[in-house]
Amino acid sequence: MIEILNPTMLARAKTTGALVGDILQTLRTRSVVGTNLLDIDRWAEKMILDAGASSCYVDYAPSFGRGPFGHYICTAVNDAVLHGLPHDYTLADGDLLTLDLAVSKGGVAADAAISFVVGNTRPPGDAAMIDATERALAAGIAVAGPGARIGDISHAIGTVLGEAGYPINTEFGGHGIGSTMHQDPHVANTGRPGRGYKLRPGLLLALEPWVMADTAQLVTDADGWTLRSATGCRTAHSEHTIAITDDGAEILTLSK
Ligand code: MG
Repeated sequence: MIEILNPTMLARAKTTGALVGDILQTLRTRSVVGTNLLDIDRWAEKMILDAGASSCYVDYAPSFGRGPFGHYICTAVNDAVLHGLPHDYTLADGDLLTLDLAVSKGGVAADAAISFVVGNTRPPGDAAMIDATERALAAGIAVAGPGARIGDISHAIGTVLGEAGYPINTEFGGHGIGSTMHQDPHVANTGRPGRGYKLRPGLLLALEPWVMADTAQLVTDADGWTLRSATGCRTAHSEHTIAITDDGAEILTLSK
């Protein structure tokens, strides 16, 4: 199902999106050397519930995970990239952390992710990899608007990632979002322009370019959720929820 939001729901989507952006920024500043991933999860839980919102993750039990997820945020460190299950791990200097958060409030969900390096060490390649996913996300947003097609977004994202030299995995990508977190259409991180669903005002999309430094192959942790690079290389992920407007697209998950 592809959901087109009415103005009332769109207004709520903006509220949810801003909440997601704010929580992620707060958690970013608190994620320092010595922070435990379970602390980040508890802080996320408190901020979500204090805002009168609900987690899209805690009861989530899709076919690709060993559900229910049971936590409020995804925390992926170094070679982990997607669906990182929070566990008892203390962040160290130079860890590359990805936080991915989806929340529902007022009946509308929003989803965003950020990657950053903890502490003062700057491991070679991390900044360029994070920057590539952020530039790919910006490129996808730039071509999103009424009349454009999903393939235009996929092509824009894939062009940036490919030119930066990263292999592109096509198992997991972006998605429609609205009254639930994961909806049609799927937005692959590579594709052909002019193909796929034609975008309409009121459509919400979560765009999420992610890469692994030297492989496109994932392996699943023993926890049944966390996906890691098959080679042990480091990874990065950037995501925003956007709304298609009458003349382009608006990013909903920026922090204030
Ligand atoms: Mg997502």
